[in-house]
Formats: sequence, C-alpha cells, structure tokens
Amino acid sequence: MSTTPAPRPSGDEPPRPPGDGPAPRPGGDEPDVLVVGAGIVGLFCAWFLARDGHRVTVVDRGEVGDPAACSSGNTGFVGTQGSAPLAEPGVPAKGLRYLLNPESPFHIRPRWDPALLAWLWHFRRVCTEADARAAFDVLLSLKQRSLAILHEVCAAKPLADTLTAQGMLLACKTPEGFDQARRSVPAAVARGVPLRVLEPGELGRLEPGVEFDVAGALLNAEGAALRIPAFLVEFAGVLRGMGVDIRTHTEVLDFEVAGDRVRAVRTSRGDLRPAEVVIAAGIWSVACARKLGLDLMLQPAKGYAVTVAAPETPPRLPILLSEGKVAVMPLGDRLRLAGTLELTGMDASVSPRRVDGIARTVRSYLPGLDTDRRVQVWSGLRPCTPDSLPLLGRAGAYRNVCVAAGHGHIGMGLAPAGGRLIAQLVGGVRPELDLAPFAVDRWRRRFPRRRPTPGSTR
Ligand SMILES: Cc1cc2nc3c(=O)[nH]c(=O)nc-3n(C[C@H](O)[C@H](O)[C@H](O)COP(=O)(O)OP(=O)(O)OC[C@H]3O[C@@H](n4cnc5c(N)ncnc54)[C@H](O)[C@@H]3O)c2cc1C
Repeated sequence: MSTTPAPRPSGDEPPRPPGDGPAPRPGGDEPDVLVVGAGIVGLFCAWFLARDGHRVTVVDRGEVGDPAACSSGNTGFVGTQGSAPLAEPGVPAKGLRYLLNPESPFHIRPRWDPALLAWLWHFRRVCTEADARAAFDVLLSLKQRSLAILHEVCAAKPLADTLTAQGMLLACKTPEGFDQARRSVPAAVARGVPLRVLEPGELGRLEPGVEFDVAGALLNAEGAALRIPAFLVEFAGVLRGMGVDIRTHTEVLDFEVAGDRVRAVRTSRGDLRPAEVVIAAGIWSVACARKLGLDLMLQPAKGYAVTVAAPETPPRLPILLSEGKVAVMPLGDRLRLAGTLELTGMDASVSPRRVDGIARTVRSYLPGLDTDRRVQVWSGLRPCTPDSLPLLGRAGAYRNVCVAAGHGHIGMGLAPAGGRLIAQLVGGVRPELDLAPFAVDRWRRRFPRRRPTPGSTR
C-alpha cells in the first residue's frame, strides 16, 4: 500500500451516514466505481451500480465462472429455503462429535492460527437461540429480496433458462429429523416461507420413478435454483451489454492511498483511478483488504460439489438432504451433489474420503442413484463470517471503499439484495435495510494500521 497519510483506525471513526453521496466523477476513461471480483457478489454490485448510471469496471484475476471462484461450481440454491445461520445452539457440541469422523459434513483442521481462533470464539458466542433467530430474520429478508430480484433479472432470454423455480424438497432420513423439521414449519410459515409437510404418497407423485429411503419430506414452494456456472457467464454478458467493463485476468495487487481515500488501484494490467472501490473478492477479500491495513473477520470454509451423470429417471426438483447436509441439484443429463464444510484454511485440495462421504449420504436417501459415474469433482472456499451475515458497508475509515464479502454458505441467495444495498450506499441513497447487522467492523476489533512499506509515497 502506498499512503499519504494513512487513515484513522475505524474504532475512532464516528458512524457514517447512509451514504456520502456519489464522489466526483473521475475524468477520461476512468470508472466511477471499480468492483474487485467477478463472482456472484461482484456481478450483482456491478448490475445495480450500472443501473443507477455509474460507469462500472469489474476486474477479476481469473475468468468469469473460473473454477477457483466459489460461485462457479456450487448447487445454486436460492430462494427462502436454508436461511438459517451456521451458528445455532447445539452446533459446538455437534461439531466436536463430527471432528472424530473423517466422512462427516463438518471438519476443522486443528492448528495454531490466531485468526481462526478469534473466528471460532465469535462463532461460539453467537450460538444462542436469540442470535440465531435474529440472524435468520435478517438472512431471510435478504433471501426474499434476492429471489424477487432474480425473477426480474431472469425474466427474459438469455437468463430465463438459468433459473428454475418449481420448489425445493427437504428430505428427512430419520423420524427424529422429520419431527424436528415438521416442528419448524409454523414458525417458517409465520415468517412468510411457503413450507409444508408432504402427505404420505405425495413425494412419490412429485418425483415419480425416484426411490427415496426417508422418514418424510417437506416442500418449499418458493424453492429455486440457478444453473451454475451458466448463470454467471450469461449474466456477465448482460452486464457487458449494459456497458460494464469486465476485465478478466486482471489482479488487484495494491492500493495507493491519500488521506482517507484510495487514490489508485494497482492491477496486474496497470493502474486505475476510480472514484469508488468495492472489494467483492470472496475469501480473497481478506488479502485485498489487508493491503489497506484492514482485518476482515472471514474464514474459508471448504465444500465439495460432485457432478455425476444423471440416472434414467433423475429427481425433478432440487433436494436438501436434511440431516446429511447435502444438496442435490438436477442439471438435465447431470446431477450435482454438494456438501461438507471444512475449516482447513486456504487449502482447496479435494479430500476423497469426504467426497465419498457425500456420495454415501446421497445413496442413503436415494438408494437407486448411481453416484460413481462422476463427471467432475470441484471444491470451493466459502467466505464465512462467524454470524453468517455478510460484510456490506464502508471499509474502516476509508470514505471511498466498500466491502461486499462474507456471504458464506448461501451467497448465491444473498448476493442480489446485497448488491442493491452496496449500490445504494455508493449512490448516497438511504439503504432499504439497516446496514448495522452487516457492519464490516461489527466485532469491534480495531483495524490495525499497517505500517507503510519502505519506499511508499507519503
Ligand atoms: C460446495 C458449495 C456449495 C454451495 N452451494 C450454495 C448454494 O446452493 N446456494 C448458495 O446460495 N450458496 C452456495 N454456496 C456458497 C456460494 O458459492 C458463495 O457464498 C458465493 O459463491 C460467494 O461469492 P463471491 O462472489 O463472494 O466469491 P467468489 O465466487 O469466490 O468470487 C470472488 C472473485 O474474486 C476474484 N479475486 C480474488 N482476488 C482478486 C484480486 N486480488 N484481484 C482481482 N480479482 C480477485 C476471484 O478470482 C473470484 O472470481 C456454496 C458453496 C460451496 C463451496
């Protein structure tokens, strides 16, 4: 980072108003707003910013839909199912049990890592009934808004084929699991989620020819899913058509700072001087923000997606295997099976045992399914906050930098509404939701001011 001089640490900064209003437009070909990262989050920020009339450039060090990006290989579930945060009462005890099972859906690699320990400490603190309920309400509200946006975005070609919205099944293996799921229905319905318990025989009518070995199932009529990576690639095309400049193979390397503003962004393909910067680089937002002296409370949580050749009669609807924590997504002649959450650092390597664990879980719910005809095994690093709420807001004391990251295990379903909030903040419009739950520094950690590098411009 080059500084002249460094900004005050955020702990000293009074709360910012909803937005300072758009910064003065830079001249020439410079963008008004530079979005770092072309995953689902960066693309939705760009969409709303462009719609609001800003000149937007998106840079990504890879391609749109690059396998390294977390957005590129997942199951694409969106809609109101799965709005629960990861931190819930009982999760720490369950987590300890999982640690002993090499095929379990959850794993922490034990290691000395102060950032991980701090994250786990905050995670443990929000494993309460009250915190989980509050987070659920916020996440549900973001997911409901996002679904409405997705319906709008995907109303016409070329995106129409990338959203399916025929509902989603929640399959429960055990009577206890089914009982627990059933008990959650009234509260979900009271919050506007169209969830209902299927009558005996109804599952067979919804999924003819598919063999289930389950105690029961629920249907969320609002369940929807994006075809990934097709949605990303087509959406990037739509953005380009709107005038958004998407520059692939362009990595952000550093920032030049003047007072409390970023003056220039150093990329592998030259400098850019936008009026505003949005850091939407998924888990790599941590490294990006660190160049500005900011610590983000994010941990990578690895997950796997196994794409197999579909059987003759595949399921029609997306299915969540409740106790097994595995998602099953029909993709025409393929099926994608995804799960596991591993806190193993920035290591995207594939563990065959856990992949086999996913396949075994799927076969225990859907015994007729052949999970061995594998077409692709993919891993992705989810950018997770301890409370599962994304980071959406101003970055530290910087007046022209926002962070849009930390969308965790449900980023496809949160990104659209999050993008609109970022555009409102950048545009100086009062955001439609209170941004306090998303504050980048809500853990009250003082962001350490990074010592200027020798030779930096001061
Ligand atoms: C197995 C699995 C299944 C999942 N299933 C679902 C699901 O069904 N529904 C759901 O809602 N969510 C799901 N998720 C979560 C979802 O994938 C993530 O929340 C989401 O993709 C995060 O998007 P992002 O844009 O923040 O990050 P990413 O998609 O990782 O994008 C970040 C981008 O930033 C770029 N970048 C990084 N550093 C730089 C730099 N210095 N300069 C320029 N560019 C840079 C990267 O190349 C990348 O393209 C799943 C995740 C996994 C792992």
